[in-house]
Amino acid sequence: MSGRSFHTSVDRYFDQAAAYARVRPGMLAQVKSCNSIYRMQFPVRGDDGEVVVVEGYRAEHSHHRLPTKGGIRYSPDVDLDETIALAALMTYKCAIVNVPFGGAKGGVRFDPRKASEGFRERVTRRYTAELIRKNFIGPDIDVPAPDYGTGEREMGWIVDTYKNLNMNSPNVYACVTGKPISMQGIPGRRQATGLGVYFGIRACLDRTEDMKALGLAPGIRGKRVIVQGLGNVGYHAARYLQTDGGAVIVGIAEMEGAIHHPDGLDVEAVAAHRRETGSILGFPGAETVTPSAAILEAPCDILVPAALENQITAANADRIRARIVAEAANGPVDAEADAILRDRGVLMIPDVFLNAGGVTVSYFEWIKNRAGVSFDRMFSRHEATMKQDLLQQIEALTGAGIPPETRQRLVRGPGEEALVMAALDDTMTRAYDRIHACWKERALPDLRTAAFLTAIEIVAGSYEHHGIFP
Ligand code: GLU
Repeated sequence: MSGRSFHTSVDRYFDQAAAYARVRPGMLAQVKSCNSIYRMQFPVRGDDGEVVVVEGYRAEHSHHRLPTKGGIRYSPDVDLDETIALAALMTYKCAIVNVPFGGAKGGVRFDPRKASEGFRERVTRRYTAELIRKNFIGPDIDVPAPDYGTGEREMGWIVDTYKNLNMNSPNVYACVTGKPISMQGIPGRRQATGLGVYFGIRACLDRTEDMKALGLAPGIRGKRVIVQGLGNVGYHAARYLQTDGGAVIVGIAEMEGAIHHPDGLDVEAVAAHRRETGSILGFPGAETVTPSAAILEAPCDILVPAALENQITAANADRIRARIVAEAANGPVDAEADAILRDRGVLMIPDVFLNAGGVTVSYFEWIKNRAGVSFDRMFSRHEATMKQDLLQQIEALTGAGIPPETRQRLVRGPGEEALVMAALDDTMTRAYDRIHACWKERALPDLRTAAFLTAIEIVAGSYEHHGIFP
């Protein structure tokens, strides 16, 4: 499916929310439009020595805050419309979680799974050089990150290329996020999107009155969950839902097929099985569901599409049996399906809120790179010492001795990963409170409209305050 229908859906979501916005029409048009687009074609040496022409894109949707921010996608299906739609979602996402960036997205049209590592590296370095040439990358300009088909390794190649061409800048590491830890990445970034999905679902399910309206008990514990996609987002989301939340993962879908077990699948074991055999199919005890997409229609409480856009459309929306659809992917429910599901009383937790954990932790990584120091370094020991003093006072006053293991646990200063995760939890919880309040106070049709409206008013407000004219 081309990116056009995805782009149309995102525009429809924008328009539905814009109807409620206290923003003048010209400004609404500015918030909606994509500011700059760079489409490139460049030659890369193929593994056989032949020249391969590769097409790539970078769309900077909104410059109301700088730098612009968003991942890079490698896929044979990437096109300009898809890239623009994803860049727009980044703008709204950053606004909702209060991350001070504009939205952007990049895409390169090739299949990374069929390419050699050497070819992927040559594509990545050349794409980075193209971005540098046109000023579409830089710590203050536009900061890429991983997305579908890319990961830490690609981000490492990007920072290396950038660093070598900008040797005198002290900030070079802040030109991209999602880097390996050894290249100034941040612990927790890899699982951040999935963990954010978990925090977001938890915030939603904690609302007793909303759950009552759906006929569900509050809380994640015991809820039957189906997850589509066991990639970086789906895997971590499923894992936290199962281990921290106590959910029962009854179905998992991947490219090769889907599996189902009414008593629950052990996410970690399914992932290990896939690593060993190359497929989730044949997982001991699980029943195979064919075609794979049929798993979306199996009964469950929460359906978590964590793969790609346009998975739930008018073609299958009326057969979805979940009470909650938690959009871990970008754009998994198109605008037609959205209307059908809403009429059927399904609660949708929108992507622009739910998968914003990735960019939130990217923001922490960017701050760390700019500060040139990790979050724990300056105060971890100080905090440990303070807690030590406090415990000694308590012992002196009460005359009771605190056992050494308890003391050790209590006085330890926080590590960087713990700080990142706590800040992510706080960010997702506050963002949910905000869009939920908007939904209820302004009597909006649903949470998605509330999320888009929240974003529109923030972005418009920041244009109003900072001026849009030179
Ligand atoms: N690609 C991710 C997203 O769609 C992360 C973006 C980022 O960290 O900048 O949100």
